[in-house]
Amino acid sequence: MLADAMNVLDTLQRSLRNLRLSVTDRCNLRCAYCMPEEEYKWLPKRSILSFEEIARVVRVFTSLGVDKVRITGGEPLLRRELANLVRLLAANPRLADLALTTNGVLLVEQARELRDAGLKRVTVSLDTLRPETFRALARRDDLDRVLAGIQAARDAGFPGLKLDAVMIKGANDGELCDLLDYAKSVGAELRYIEYMDVGGATRWRAADVLSRAEMLERLAARFGPIEPVREISNAPAERFRLADGTVFGIIASTTAPFCSSCDRSRLTADGMWYRCLYATTGTNLRDALRSEPDDAKLAELIAGHWRARADRGAEDRLAELSRGAYAGRDELAQNPHLEMHKRGG
Ligand code: SF4
Repeated sequence: MLADAMNVLDTLQRSLRNLRLSVTDRCNLRCAYCMPEEEYKWLPKRSILSFEEIARVVRVFTSLGVDKVRITGGEPLLRRELANLVRLLAANPRLADLALTTNGVLLVEQARELRDAGLKRVTVSLDTLRPETFRALARRDDLDRVLAGIQAARDAGFPGLKLDAVMIKGANDGELCDLLDYAKSVGAELRYIEYMDVGGATRWRAADVLSRAEMLERLAARFGPIEPVREISNAPAERFRLADGTVFGIIASTTAPFCSSCDRSRLTADGMWYRCLYATTGTNLRDALRSEPDDAKLAELIAGHWRARADRGAEDRLAELSRGAYAGRDELAQNPHLEMHKRGG
């Protein structure tokens, strides 16, 4: 009989519930809001957690109350035999939700296998429907593969398909409404994401942010009255409904952060655990995993750090008057774990 999971609270009474699991820092795109630079320092292969190590650490997290895991990267579908990890995680009876965020480029080949392995939900990043804008934003020419990947996820029978679109003024903001029409046409729920000044977004400027307020204004001008969806949720997206019943979300962590209900933490592919997207220091769980055979000791370590958590990174950033990019190239070179593509967004 499985003992009930604990409910570990941080200093702001936020539960440890939601773990974003980066399985690689590599990516096959170079999105301007995440990896705008030419050169990147990759994590050494020997430092990367094995699937067994990941399954073990997730078991420990779920004993402390985590019931949602989202697999991320870099681009997670680049990690070979990812379906084997999904199978291991899906066997964990405490996991209520097992989701994945992908850029969709490799989804056609893997959607069915991931679904059969037990993956519950998929989110595909789609910032544009125009090939020239895709090339400009991602510096690759893979829009067709992404759209085919979305179709493959539908064909594989994933319920609750979601699309994430990072909106940047002067880059893709002209497609705000077209992206929603597209999402509707493929039966997916679109979440608009405000351009965030996270680690790695070295070109970030406040002037390029299309805010939640501006998005709602433009969408209402095109689609008519917009109603908020009344629900209690810790999910980052605030949801809205159009008159025809279409639901979409906005993740407004730049202009309207939601740190007060944040139950998320992140584990990098090499086992560094961060309790906030903006945290500059984390906990090395890889060395603990490889030196401590006792799961109860690991659980104590994790619970202790969570109980001390007071992070409200996006709110702190919002309070900064002259806000520029979060970290410059030199700082990122000294501390590559600051990079969003290492933390899984
Ligand atoms: S900035 Fe940090 S505390 Fe705020 S919502 Fe994001 S991860 Fe949570």
